[in-house]
Amino acid sequence: MRTAEIKRRFLSHFEANGHAVVPSAPLPAIDDPNLLFINAGMVQFVPYFLGQRTPPWKRATSVQKCIRTPDIDEVGKTSRHGTFFQMNGNFSFGDYFKEGAITLAWDLITKSVEEGGFGLDPERIWATVYLDDDEAFDIWHSKIGLPEERIVRRGKADNYWSMGIPGPCGPCSEIYLDRGPEYGREGGPEVDEDRYMEFWNLVFMQNERGPGADKENYPILGELPAKNIDTGMGLERMASILQGVDNIYEIDEIRPILDKAVQMTGREYGTRSGHVASESHPDDVRLRVIADHVRTSLMLIADGVTPSNEGRGYVLRRIMRRAIRAIRLLGWQGPALPELLPVARDCMAPSYPEVASDFERIASYAYAEEEAFLSTLRAGTTILDTAMAETKLAGGTRLTGEQAFQLHDTYGFPIDLTLEIAAEQGLAVDEEGFRRLMSEQRRRAKADAQARKTGHVDLSAYRQVLEAGGPVEFTGYEETARESR
Ligand code: ATP
Ligand code: MG
Ligand code: MG
Ligand code: MG
Repeated sequence: MRTAEIKRRFLSHFEANGHAVVPSAPLPAIDDPNLLFINAGMVQFVPYFLGQRTPPWKRATSVQKCIRTPDIDEVGKTSRHGTFFQMNGNFSFGDYFKEGAITLAWDLITKSVEEGGFGLDPERIWATVYLDDDEAFDIWHSKIGLPEERIVRRGKADNYWSMGIPGPCGPCSEIYLDRGPEYGREGGPEVDEDRYMEFWNLVFMQNERGPGADKENYPILGELPAKNIDTGMGLERMASILQGVDNIYEIDEIRPILDKAVQMTGREYGTRSGHVASESHPDDVRLRVIADHVRTSLMLIADGVTPSNEGRGYVLRRIMRRAIRAIRLLGWQGPALPELLPVARDCMAPSYPEVASDFERIASYAYAEEEAFLSTLRAGTTILDTAMAETKLAGGTRLTGEQAFQLHDTYGFPIDLTLEIAAEQGLAVDEEGFRRLMSEQRRRAKADAQARKTGHVDLSAYRQVLEAGGPVEFTGYEETARESR
């Protein structure tokens, strides 16, 4: 089943059950100073959950474009994390609650394909509930008929959902599919989250969270005015299930980009790996990263983000650079985006016509960014070559932290690339020294930013003295007095 068809079926299931179909909000989260990008379907509905605004409907459904940069290091190494993905959702604003949400979800996933559902085998479905949520446990067990062995109670990190920042939150129930022994170890979601793949999360949105970065330890401020439902089904994950492929990078909306990279680099894909994503050949991981990041770049620029050195623009820049670097490491030398981006456009245009109609603008930003990065790489490579030759001449085996830092700082030359190229020449790099210099620089930048924000002068130099030598006493009068004696 094609991704566009899964999306259509999802929306029509909920529309038939009284939900208003609401379009996706754009990716940049412009209304929330704490959030760079929309990371879930519920974000555009936050004021309704908090009771700040009255929703025009009791029930809504949407397919929301999402960005999750915290997942960037997982891309390609798990079967299920993209930096961009689409979240199918249904929402109840003080209308149905746990039983309604679980029943509506179960009906859609187990209804046969002929009847308009997704036709999943009930025997392979698992559910999780929050530790003490007996109500949800009972609905799964008594009403739906899921055996107790396939209902798992999990703690706050997995089964108590929030956006990661202050706002609505609540216990949740996640739905998993056991993809079978070839995908990993037996024992349920707590043992192997790639074999048992989470594809849908039902959140019982009833409380408000306060600030705090710790996933398991943030204050709950109190109850929301109503009991709500917020669900999110990963469209790409469902597509990977229904298309019978190993991971989300192999679905119809992404695979052609991956295939293009295969064709460009002459590398093989998938022949050296089994079904377990975490054991993939490094080339396979890189090819997936390229496919994911090129698609994300397309969608971000389409929504008005442009590469820059801060905020949203910097996220985009980092994602583009990772894609460009990855394809160079697979042996492709010239500009890659003019080859890859049109393929991504053709994948996404059926669902998002604006990526085709606005392609000229999108491409001009993307190609200019790649040109600039390639010249950075060229400049840095010359410096790196010289540094490596000097090191070897002096009988050394390792580049210094300062050299790596200078490449990074002056030429924007990423450390991974320094490591990779040095390794090809049989040289190591003092990574620890590099990281020390990086964190010193970060500390300076933070102090500067703080000074700009508060209008205070830069005290970081004093702070360093303090940290190095303990508290400093003011002895000026005495000393001056002594000197003048
Ligand atoms: P996981 O535990 O696999 O990282 P999650 O619990 O962080 O997923 P939720 O916040 O519950 O995910 O989001 C709702 C749904 O969105 C998930 O059930 C999944 O189907 C999908 N999803 C979440 N993160 C991603 C991602 N990075 N790429 C693709 N789909 C995702
Ligand atoms: Mg996650
Ligand atoms: Mg999860
Ligand atoms: Mg989840």
